[in-house]
Amino acid sequence: MNTVAWATPPEALPLPVVDNHCHLDFHYRGATTRTAAEMLDEAARVGVTRAVQIGCEIDSARWTAEAIKADARLVGGVALHPNEAPIHAAGEHPSGLDYPEALAEIARLARLPRMRVIGETGLDYHHTGPEGREAQVTSFRDHIALAKELGLVLQIHDRDAHADVLDVLSRDGAPEVTVFHCFSGDAAMARVCASRGYYVSFAGNVTFKNAQGLRAALAVTPLERVLVETDAPFLTPHPQRGRVNSPAQVAATMRTIADVIGVELADACAIIDATSETLYGPW
Ligand SMILES: [Zn+2]
Repeated sequence: MNTVAWATPPEALPLPVVDNHCHLDFHYRGATTRTAAEMLDEAARVGVTRAVQIGCEIDSARWTAEAIKADARLVGGVALHPNEAPIHAAGEHPSGLDYPEALAEIARLARLPRMRVIGETGLDYHHTGPEGREAQVTSFRDHIALAKELGLVLQIHDRDAHADVLDVLSRDGAPEVTVFHCFSGDAAMARVCASRGYYVSFAGNVTFKNAQGLRAALAVTPLERVLVETDAPFLTPHPQRGRVNSPAQVAATMRTIADVIGVELADACAIIDATSETLYGPW
């Protein structure tokens, strides 16, 4: 039974903006399915004209390679998610690929045209226990090296692992463009990221009533370092939290971003769209 509704499109933005991180292939349990084209059509009507599709499991990475070929509104990113790498390393992945085979497949896909991102990679101490840490660190370091080798943007997933993520980045040296996707740190961490020249991408959770800490982090981040994303189908912004997310919802999150930073919505859109284009290149 389909019991979870899709969020309805917010009011249109005054200028176009990019969704910097979404998963258009993920099926949200209990919801009807929509095609990427349907979601992108809806998003375009409210000013979210382009998106970065992220495939961070083997099947999803292969899907991403096809999706970016089929739709000019998408560029792509591929990686082994920090919760996937330990499963490959343990030889327990349903694909049958061990870790070196899975990484090789990611590296092959990353070389395809219109692939612009290695991600999401990083550390996740919430979903993976201590037994998976070594494999996560190895995978994170391999992805950093791959992003540097191919000159691609690194998108980081950091869940309850702030200090260790920053530590690995400083030891190995971050790629030229490093983005903290779905930023979850506090204001102090946002300052560290900005001072190191990283970019900080805010998702719909920055709009949640109890997210004062995230908004404090946003408030101290220079607008030139800020990106916006949905992480769709998850993290639908207020007031539709709990429904299924899609790129159109960037229009809701952008309003919070402009409010918190204290700039006109149109100015925030223009700056964030220009930053996205600079980082990922033309679509
Ligand atoms: Zn994601």
